[in-house]
Amino acid sequence: MASTDVLVVGAGIIGLAHAALAHASGLSVTVIERDHRAVGASVRNFGHACITAQHGDLYDLAQAGRKHWLDFSAKAGFWAIESGALVVAATETELQLLREFSDSRPEGQVTVLDADNVRAKLGRENTDGIRGGAFLADDLRVDPRTTVGTLAGWLNDQDGAAVHFNTAALGFGQGAARRARVSTSRGAYEADQVFICVGHDVDYLFPEVAAEHRIERCALQMTAAPAPESTTIVPAVLTATSMLRYDAFTHLPSASALRSQVSAARPDLLEIGANVMFTQRPDGTLLLGDSHSYQLTQPPFLTESTSEILLQAAAKVLDVEDILPTERWQGIYASSEVSPVLVRDIAESITLVSVTSGIGMTISFGLAEANLNAVAATRATTALQGS
Ligand SMILES: Cc1cc2nc3c(=O)[nH]c(=O)nc-3n(C[C@H](O)[C@H](O)[C@H](O)COP(=O)(O)OP(=O)(O)OC[C@H]3O[C@@H](n4cnc5c(N)ncnc54)[C@H](O)[C@@H]3O)c2cc1C
Repeated sequence: MASTDVLVVGAGIIGLAHAALAHASGLSVTVIERDHRAVGASVRNFGHACITAQHGDLYDLAQAGRKHWLDFSAKAGFWAIESGALVVAATETELQLLREFSDSRPEGQVTVLDADNVRAKLGRENTDGIRGGAFLADDLRVDPRTTVGTLAGWLNDQDGAAVHFNTAALGFGQGAARRARVSTSRGAYEADQVFICVGHDVDYLFPEVAAEHRIERCALQMTAAPAPESTTIVPAVLTATSMLRYDAFTHLPSASALRSQVSAARPDLLEIGANVMFTQRPDGTLLLGDSHSYQLTQPPFLTESTSEILLQAAAKVLDVEDILPTERWQGIYASSEVSPVLVRDIAESITLVSVTSGIGMTISFGLAEANLNAVAATRATTALQGS
């Protein structure tokens, strides 16, 4: 029987963040992943650590994870930049909301910009219809297509760490000496602690927990396209519909006015649950999105009219006639109205972790650190009680 201090199920960013931090603390770690390489939410997203726009506990987790993103980028060799994010404002209401946001944050974290400065950050000269914007200094960007693969490969090369692909977790129970036991498609493992990080597939393993937490699958439509005129755009670019979705904006005084404005001017964007935003991969390709639709099981089909609405909205920000897609895809993440994160002890030493909102990249390392600290604290208490 294979034995390890920590067993992680799932080689997406949540599983790998738990594995990488556990290994950094001196524990032996094994990751098992059912696929031959991870192709879930962690490779289908924008690669945006959207730190500044989080609120409350999620903001604390996002900020706590920031240093780990940069640290593991340096160690493992995946691309990450301190890009910041740019929120583009097209109306006075949007700009007013950004002023309120800036006022609510420490000096220098959110800088309100005039239209010329927004154009400069966008790398575009003739962008009409931009009234101003804001620069969010703390945000990071990684390349979603390569990050988890590189991190998994690096981890597998470290002493005391292994990543086993094409190995599916099938069942969980207790082993000898209060250790956890996991049966897999390639035999059984025992571990002092198991983290189950299977993204939106919680219902495959724990249907009752998924039902209780009301986990649905949120499907998003995404597009890749070359940047117009080979423009370099360093920050992640957000727009009004982004401000309707991220918690740091939604409780500000002008948020309801913005919702009314978008609802009157662009009901089509609200109907598809749009968050019109884009990021740029290191090769210059833009990742553009996205729409949101919620169901327990998602149909695999992309709706062309949804893609068109999103592409036209992005083209307007970039002041181009058309964006010519090279790829389209569907991404899925776990979503719940109960809470944005699910952390649940399934049994002694077996913890289920799923980010049930669209911010898993942003909070991955902060959440992993908090979970590992909680396990260590529980063990210390148990040891004290036993002594
Ligand atoms: C289109 C899109 C855009 C997004 N944009 C952003 C963004 O810009 N910023 C941000 O912070 N977040 C973003 N998100 C959300 C973010 O991508 C997710 O929250 C995050 O990737 C979830 O990571 P995960 O590791 O939990 O899931 P996944 O990446 O889906 O990984 C789960 C892994 O578990 C494996 N697995 C499942 N069951 C088993 C089993 N039984 N045994 C072994 N392995 C198993 C799967 O094969 C999979 O590889 C976006 C999501 C999408 C879809």
